[in-house]
Amino acid sequence: MTFDQLGLSRKVVSAVADAGYTIPTPIQADAIPHAVAGKDVLGIAQTGTGKTAAFVLPMITRLEKGRARARMPRTLILEPTRELAAQVEENFVKYGKNHRLNIALLIGGVSFDEQEKKLERGVDVLIATPGRMLDHFERGKLLLTGVEILVIDEADRMLDMGFIPDIERICKLIPFTRQTLFFSATMPPEITKLTEQFLQAPVRVEVSKAASTATNIVQRLVKSKSKGWDKRETLRNLIRQEGDDLTNAIIFCNRKVDVSELFRSLVKHDFDAGALHGDMDQRARMAMLDGFRKGKLKLLVASDVAARGLDIPAVSHVFNFDVPIHAEDYVHRIGRTGRAGRSGKSFTIVTKSDAKYLDAIKKLIGQDIEWLDGDVSTIAHDDEDDSPRPRRGRERKPRGDSKPPRKTRSAPAPVEDDAPSVVPAEPLAPAAVVEAVQEEKPQRKRRDAIKAENAERKAAQPEAAPAPRREDPAPRRDDNDRRGGKRRGRDHDEGDGTIGFGDDMPAFMKIEVKA
Ligand code: AMP
Repeated sequence: MTFDQLGLSRKVVSAVADAGYTIPTPIQADAIPHAVAGKDVLGIAQTGTGKTAAFVLPMITRLEKGRARARMPRTLILEPTRELAAQVEENFVKYGKNHRLNIALLIGGVSFDEQEKKLERGVDVLIATPGRMLDHFERGKLLLTGVEILVIDEADRMLDMGFIPDIERICKLIPFTRQTLFFSATMPPEITKLTEQFLQAPVRVEVSKAASTATNIVQRLVKSKSKGWDKRETLRNLIRQEGDDLTNAIIFCNRKVDVSELFRSLVKHDFDAGALHGDMDQRARMAMLDGFRKGKLKLLVASDVAARGLDIPAVSHVFNFDVPIHAEDYVHRIGRTGRAGRSGKSFTIVTKSDAKYLDAIKKLIGQDIEWLDGDVSTIAHDDEDDSPRPRRGRERKPRGDSKPPRKTRSAPAPVEDDAPSVVPAEPLAPAAVVEAVQEEKPQRKRRDAIKAENAERKAAQPEAAPAPRREDPAPRRDDNDRRGGKRRGRDHDEGDGTIGFGDDMPAFMKIEVKA
């Protein structure tokens, strides 16, 4: 089959040919004729299958008739992340080169003003993340009553990210007569419900078994002890071990904070690495992605949200620094490699506590995954120190002091050999706590002595001028006493039976005073 057999316009077919594509992918061959005919489509397909063109090409064909009006976009494409939205825009530019389409991208992290100006001029194609789109709608800058085609892409990802209420709201704001093209890699019940509610007699197009993994990807599990630095070392060894076979790789972490930490650690160890996560501003994300795509950057450390659906054509390796918590993420992550029939390798670092997640993954993909060098049960119990690091809030405070001991220069917390150069707030190390407690002892002794000294002086000159007020050297000690409910006078001294100073009489007390 060729592209000119799908019902696409001549100008669109010519743009596709210029892009170098001659044969439609299965999702394109199945979905495009129905989409061109104006039918609702439910496409079950992962990224990498050519699904973007499966909705972009028929949309451009249908947009040839009619014109955009101010603030009334003709089509709306909802994407879960900014990167995906930007990627779809690139597709419209590529395949719409023979058309004069007004395209607007409404994504977070970019100023509202620019986006509003574009809306004002009239938009054929509006590509948006749900939150930003609703912000514009609520500001009254956008009317959805002119939308003829609605695309909901990566619906299962929208679900993971909590966008479903927004999607439902948006669907209700768009005329019922619209055409809806709906894509999802998997079909959990919430998504099925959504399609039943908002699609009308859709044509179902499924290109591969939901949540299957490609056969051209070598998958391996790699055991590691559970501490961050052990995992980082395991990763470094893996990267080195792969040598020249590794041309570029995406390294997935479960949490944004770990993306930053791992990225800094890799850079510190002289790896050519960049990072991609949701807290980075849009420009930095795009620059990072661009550098990676163009091969200027070898390793990209990323979170699932930031990397989902990104079209990076040739990634030789995927590393799962963390076993994904959602089994479907495993499929998506390793799907970053082995694209378009190329071979790829994926390594998943597994610790003892990951067993549950690993089981879920194996169940989902319906196959076992080989261990590279023995499974986690071969990690000797003695090697695995799972004792939690002390947390600041739990440390025992030295008695008599309401503030936690401070780290002293003389007793720095032990630092990991590969700790990131910007170390996040580290819990106080046990060594420092011990040191601070020890330091406290002589201070307390001295404070008690001064207290007693004051008491003695007061006793010696009771009726005369009051004892000169001096700064209480141990105010926090008094605070503590009060908290304990035993308000003690400054001149009261509980002791071991020693009267006065005992042998510790200060020298000045011994000076003879002439009457
Ligand atoms: P997608 O699934 O939309 O993210 O597309 C994955 C990749 O396949 C992108 O790099 C597309 O440019 C590419 N692609 C799309 N259609 C075709 C086609 N018919 N033949 C070969 N590659 C394609």
